[in-house]
Amino acid sequence: MNKVAETASSSLFPTYARYPIALVKGDGSWLWDDQGNKYLDFMCGLAVTNLGHAPKQVKEALVKQLDELWHVSNLFHIPNQEAAAKLLTDNSHADAVFFCSTGAEANEAAIKLARRYHQKVKGNGRNEIITFAQSFHGRTLATLTATGQEKVKEGFGPLPEGFRYIPLHDYEALEAAITDKTAAIMIEMIQAEGGVIPVEPAFVQHLAKVCKERGILLIVDEIQTGMGRTGKLFGFQHYGIEPDIFTLAKGLGSGFPVGAMLAKGELREAFNAGSHGSTFGGTPIATAVVKATIEALLEEKAADRAAETGEYLMSQLREKLAGNPFVQEIRGKGLMIGIVCSGPVANIIAEGQKRGLLVVTAGPNVVRLLPSLLISRDEVDLGVSILTSIFADQTAPV
Ligand SMILES: *Cc1c(COP(=O)(O)O)cnc(C)c1O
Repeated sequence: MNKVAETASSSLFPTYARYPIALVKGDGSWLWDDQGNKYLDFMCGLAVTNLGHAPKQVKEALVKQLDELWHVSNLFHIPNQEAAAKLLTDNSHADAVFFCSTGAEANEAAIKLARRYHQKVKGNGRNEIITFAQSFHGRTLATLTATGQEKVKEGFGPLPEGFRYIPLHDYEALEAAITDKTAAIMIEMIQAEGGVIPVEPAFVQHLAKVCKERGILLIVDEIQTGMGRTGKLFGFQHYGIEPDIFTLAKGLGSGFPVGAMLAKGELREAFNAGSHGSTFGGTPIATAVVKATIEALLEEKAADRAAETGEYLMSQLREKLAGNPFVQEIRGKGLMIGIVCSGPVANIIAEGQKRGLLVVTAGPNVVRLLPSLLISRDEVDLGVSILTSIFADQTAPV
């Protein structure tokens, strides 16, 4: 079916510029389309299927829960939810977890918690959140407002008040943006959608220090960097900081929709009974999946593997793409890697699909690699050889 016919006959909103492929089956690092073509997956549904497709342990837990109970509402105790939250707090510095269904909803909860903490617990009326240029925090009205990219905001005004934006790594702009109304600073440890841009350690540490000194909450958006992706369970663990609040989604459910907002104990009372909620937040099914996902991540030492495999993949790319005129830089951490190019990379993505490798962009000029944390060396080598051949065949600047 050609693209025009497809668009005209679809009952869906055209919110996504879809690739001309319909994937119907997945196993580990591999995907198959409805024509029987096989693809090596270097994107993981955008950092979601961190354990590969249909991971055995998670699938078993999901199937078992499907036989027992699907939904009861948060008016009741949900043992799986307690157990999943305990796994998260046992494996981080956080003391309290709120479950929801998506990343945007987790960030929305973080923004609400920060404001409510200052207004109800501290009684200081602070309500402003500082975020960064090129950041991405979601598509709800508050989270698209928090996002430091104009394109996600166009046509959606009026936007909620109380957000200020500064360039990444700009110490002076940070100083100028902080007022007696500043409730929180919100940041990703690697700006993912913004172009796979790791934040400099000195800047992260400066932010943590400034927040601590001035009673400002530090919110880290770990929705894409979390769950082992960067070589630690959470990205901020590379920097020796403990954010007051952090958010998870994507890899948290191995493909099942689930998000979480985690915070230190002193923030617990800001979200008292009735202050926030979500019908589907932490259902028996969702939290059975979260529990199994975390257990599998820990059992497989997935974060350590991501660190090792990521180093190998990065070194292979640097070696094989060295001297290529289109490649400017290869950056990232663990298995979140960006190949920064001298121009648009849409044709590299398309060429990958033709040659059986799925990769994705991050901004117009960056090819983003997000393979399974459990990918084998052979699979990495295959991906690198396909990428090398695609880049070698580029005859004009991309
Ligand atoms: C994907 C993403 C979000 C939004 O998550 P959704 O589940 O799509 O709402 C927010 N922040 C970051 C860093 C993300 O990568």
